[in-house]
Amino acid sequence: MYAMLEPAQKYSQAFCTPEDIVIAEEIRKFVDKELMPRRHDLEGGWHRDEVLARKTVHSLYAKLVDIGVTKSNLPEQYGGLGMSPMVRTMINEELSRADIGLATMVGKIHWIVSFMLVGGRSDLLEELAPKIVGGDSWTACVAITEPAGGANIEDPALEFQTLRVVAKQEGDEYVINGHKLWPGPAGPADYFKGDGLSGHLGYWTVATTDPQGGRDCAGLFYVPADAEGLEFSQPYKKMGFSWSDTNGDIWFNNVRIPKRYRIDTKPGQGADIIKACVIGLGRLSGAARLIGLSTAVLEIVLEWGDNRSIAGTKLRERSMFAGYLAEMFRAIEVCRHYYMSVTWQVTQPEIYGAHHSPQMIARFSAARSMAGETAQMVTNKAMELMGAFGYSYEGQIEKYMRDYKIAQLWLGGPQRERLDIAQGLYGPFRWGGQDAWEAGGGKV
Ligand SMILES: Cc1cc2nc3c(=O)[nH]c(=O)nc-3n(C[C@H](O)[C@H](O)[C@H](O)COP(=O)(O)OP(=O)(O)OC[C@H]3O[C@@H](n4cnc5c(N)ncnc54)[C@H](O)[C@@H]3O)c2cc1C
Repeated sequence: MYAMLEPAQKYSQAFCTPEDIVIAEEIRKFVDKELMPRRHDLEGGWHRDEVLARKTVHSLYAKLVDIGVTKSNLPEQYGGLGMSPMVRTMINEELSRADIGLATMVGKIHWIVSFMLVGGRSDLLEELAPKIVGGDSWTACVAITEPAGGANIEDPALEFQTLRVVAKQEGDEYVINGHKLWPGPAGPADYFKGDGLSGHLGYWTVATTDPQGGRDCAGLFYVPADAEGLEFSQPYKKMGFSWSDTNGDIWFNNVRIPKRYRIDTKPGQGADIIKACVIGLGRLSGAARLIGLSTAVLEIVLEWGDNRSIAGTKLRERSMFAGYLAEMFRAIEVCRHYYMSVTWQVTQPEIYGAHHSPQMIARFSAARSMAGETAQMVTNKAMELMGAFGYSYEGQIEKYMRDYKIAQLWLGGPQRERLDIAQGLYGPFRWGGQDAWEAGGGKV
């Protein structure tokens, strides 16, 4: 136990309540008892056994649904817990101590709830709430990235002009066509049934009603998992997140959805929800996850340095080792306080601006980009300090090192984030290259 890494001390009460801390403590106990011992099984062990991985991911996710973490931001009127954005970020941090992939699965439910809340879609919340509030456990996916690039969809200066998945209105329906890459979890609906998982809620899909239309035509469309016309590739093979996030291609072949499954209802509202909730809050949750992961790595290396002695002295009592541990703690602590401060700013839009404003996007981006660099530094230093054991499978660091990377890259990545910070600080301005892109007829 390290007092400064326990919820009572690590979460600043300038930004959260004593009740929030009790919730974080309860989740932490659950994580230590139920998730920590199963970390390797989530990937199917050393041999990446698919059956073991799937069973472990589905059954542990069902336990998380049981304890109520997925319904934390759903208002009480729909059967949720109606908790604050601070609790949402704390859940992300605590779960990521064990596995950032499971935390992301839980976070996907918070994410889709936030879209429907901000869109004022109480009808859709009522429709989907029974599958969110527990009893059964359901997963969900948000589809943004396209073959011509994910980061350009996430570029506020391009105003969604590169979107090529098109939703055309026909009477009371939208007909969706196009191709998404990388969304996860994605796949045939039946794939997500079994071992404790009841099924897949569907795909909250970023699309446009007119590729030339930019901001006013961008929208967020709910496509149920069993909609006719959905086609999937095999899951991609990748460095981490093997079974908690089965990523692949989705082809939309004349997929028909009722008109009311478009989340946004006014011109420009879709673009704002995508910027604020999909990208902005997605990056903020990512910051909390990266700091949870970094904290777990610091705990591992602290323990190791206490148990390993060289020439009669515990490693963590040697000054160079101690200095590195202090650097890791310093970075983690600063990032946590910053992401908590930004989370608090989310609740004060009259002071800090709307969630989709360039200033708030800059802050969401600053929180995740610093957290990503902290996770990179902490996993790298931990491996160095632990020597050969750090490199081993048993040492656990290698898993965290593989896992942090994508939480730093998705939703635009470190370069995109720097550009978004600049846009908030002294924008708006246009990129060199954007004129050339427009001169080329906007072809991507
Ligand atoms: C495990 C995993 C899970 C994922 N889950 C999802 C998901 O659930 N849903 C989904 O839609 N997508 C998902 N993705 C995709 C991910 O969000 C994208 O890969 C990411 O947004 C970057 O897009 P890209 O790979 O197309 O990179 P590109 O757009 O090709 O960008 C390449 C590089 O260029 C940089 N860059 C971009 N613009 C500029 C610029 N103007 N100037 C300088 N540099 C720039 C980027 O930061 C990046 O480093 C996932 C990816 C992985 C690996």
